[in-house]
Amino acid sequence: VYSLAAPTALELLLREPLLLPLLLLTACENDPLLYCQPDLTPFNVNVVVLTEHPDAPTATSSHVDAVDPTSTWSGLELLRREIDVHLSDNFLDASGGPVCGTEGCVEFDFTNWAFRDDIASTSCTELLAVGDVSDPALFAVDYSNELAAAVSACQDDEVRDPYALNLYIYDDCDWDGAAFDCTTSTGHGRSNLDGDVFKPYVFLDITRLQHQTQAPEEHEFGHALGLAHSCDPAIAVTGDVSNIMQSSCGGAGSGGTRTEGFGDVDHDETHGVHDQIQDLLETSLEIQDAWCEALTGS
Ligand SMILES: [Zn+2]
Repeated sequence: VYSLAAPTALELLLREPLLLPLLLLTACENDPLLYCQPDLTPFNVNVVVLTEHPDAPTATSSHVDAVDPTSTWSGLELLRREIDVHLSDNFLDASGGPVCGTEGCVEFDFTNWAFRDDIASTSCTELLAVGDVSDPALFAVDYSNELAAAVSACQDDEVRDPYALNLYIYDDCDWDGAAFDCTTSTGHGRSNLDGDVFKPYVFLDITRLQHQTQAPEEHEFGHALGLAHSCDPAIAVTGDVSNIMQSSCGGAGSGGTRTEGFGDVDHDETHGVHDQIQDLLETSLEIQDAWCEALTGS
């Protein structure tokens, strides 16, 4: 029987036994050697719950869906949906398609996770302490280098997967185990080049889970893959349609809706006109090349 369809993996294997090791390799989406392909491969994402907030996902928690209150998610399902649903469905270009170029596409896979109970005895105590910050200034620009240093210093693979984008869920309220007195809802992301290895990360306040409050997943992962803020001064009110990376331009105003996908932005805090797609592709390739080099020594 002649078929125009591409050969299946099994058919290829029968024809080319030498492909067996390659197929075994690619069958495991968690294998960091996948980054050694010439084109972009989906990023592994490690989601880590740093906060002890009672609403935080745990191995036994249940969470009401933010849009459909008749649906509930387990803690693990909530973490998975942050990446495989909310991030993947919204990390798009201006025409609503995936972020792609000749280098491939920028995509994400939920591959690893840790709940707060899993990492209670981690050696990364500085990073763990960020889970329940009592000082809102922690995420101020002048502190962010210290935050990056805390991530970089962490050598516990469960807390900082060295070959993944690490998403940390924290609580930026003044949570002292007894009371919540907080309306802030912050996030933070950085590609975090440390020496010649990238240690990219995103921090998201628990109130921003389930894609609430201004494009949290796609905006912060944009930062983690090297994007700066876009800064269109015409965006004056919260309801104005704006680019995913729009910020308040350092003064009055707002980030707008952040619903417009990545593309060319005319206003940027430091760089003028910017091709966000090209920047995302270039930084993603740089990160994956550096990881491959660290893994293989070549
Ligand atoms: Zn930002």
